[in-house]
Amino acid sequence: MSAPRGTRDILSPEVEKWHYLEGKIREYCRLYAYSEIRPPIFEHTELFLRGVGETTDIVQKEMYSFQDRAQRWLTLRPEATASTVRAYLENKLYAQPQPVKLYYLGPMFRYDRPQAGRYRQFYQFGVEVIGAEDPAADAEVILMAVHFFAHLGLGDLEVHLNSIGCPACRGAYRKELLNYLSEHIGNLCSDCRARYQHNPLRVLDCKQEGCRGIAREAPEFGAYLCAECKEHFEQVQAHLGDLGIKYQLNSNLVRGLDYYTKTVFEIITRELGAQGTICGGGRYDGLVEECGGQPTPGVGFALGVERLLLALENTGVKLPGVEPLDVFVASIGAGVQRPAFKILYDLRRRGIRADKDFLGRSLKAQMKQAHRSHARYVVLVGEGELARNVVTLRDMETGVQEEVLIEKISEKILALMGGMEDGR
Ligand code: ATP
Ligand code: MG
Repeated sequence: MSAPRGTRDILSPEVEKWHYLEGKIREYCRLYAYSEIRPPIFEHTELFLRGVGETTDIVQKEMYSFQDRAQRWLTLRPEATASTVRAYLENKLYAQPQPVKLYYLGPMFRYDRPQAGRYRQFYQFGVEVIGAEDPAADAEVILMAVHFFAHLGLGDLEVHLNSIGCPACRGAYRKELLNYLSEHIGNLCSDCRARYQHNPLRVLDCKQEGCRGIAREAPEFGAYLCAECKEHFEQVQAHLGDLGIKYQLNSNLVRGLDYYTKTVFEIITRELGAQGTICGGGRYDGLVEECGGQPTPGVGFALGVERLLLALENTGVKLPGVEPLDVFVASIGAGVQRPAFKILYDLRRRGIRADKDFLGRSLKAQMKQAHRSHARYVVLVGEGELARNVVTLRDMETGVQEEVLIEKISEKILALMGGMEDGR
């Protein structure tokens, strides 16, 4: 049996890198004052039809939907912004001081074509600021992503920025775009011919070479932004300028989901080839209303954790590996097994990371095991020593051994380890 296509097991020594990144994510969310939300992994299918949009790739081709035993239609979440907005309404977070700043970290599910950096179960870290239309909120989420990446050591990033306006200005632009696309309809891919009907903006973001050429020559949204959207976009850019964040305007950037308004952005790295987008986001001023609430602005981003790890690896950033053991407890003779087990617990109770053999291995094999786990010390428990109420403590770096009273062993090791810390 194998795991379903597009899914994978994350094991040591990779999982240690995940722990490190997860720790950094929580550290940055704390720094920027976002609190965590853990929405369910499945939701009513209806939420994504409304929240993500019926004409998007996600809803049309990528959702894992199923009926439960009571015939309800449910979907494994393909993204978490819709869930966050649902939770905002359901938990009446609009009654709290605004904006509400939330982050999530967890698996998403999409029926994508598996390849490097593209899976069917993948992890996203995302933030949402709900209840603020201030352009500084847009700048904050972009800043947070850029600051986070820079802190991790990821260089060579491009921030692509665009504004896709509001329903008021989008109508005029859409008309102009349809006009332009109608002259090229024969050269669009079959997906884009369908997009032309239902969601023409998405043609701008098609990855097919033919469509990209057409998209490059398309009319730019900038000229159609209404006064309010134009001013908002200028303010976002002014903030980014103040913060020293480099960005490039990209009029073809529209993003895949229906709910975006005004600011949209992507952060791209050259380190990942075709799957170069590690982070995407933008403003979604229509989404809360779409999900049944009062008109409420929102802005956020989502980033792919697998792609981030790949990009860090390709950049040559060293991430923490497996943590060495502090102590390996080696025991010689059947009669010492129980006392050795007690000593092990005593060490752990004092916060010392320790392990022992569980297969009755020879002393030689146990020492090998200690080496393999990079143990700093070995505590040897033997029959003769036990009779004298001592164990042998071996420093694995220097090879120096000494006898230590059993009741003093944890203290002794803690003192030695404390000395090491001080020496660092
Ligand atoms: P793409 O164009 O690569 O399919 P997307 O526009 O569908 O990306 P978003 O919905 O913006 O992606 O999701 C935000 C981030 O989540 C992406 O930038 C990417 O890092 C990550 N991501 C999206 N889909 C996958 C996937 N199937 N496997 C791994 N990571 C993914
Ligand atoms: Mg996609």
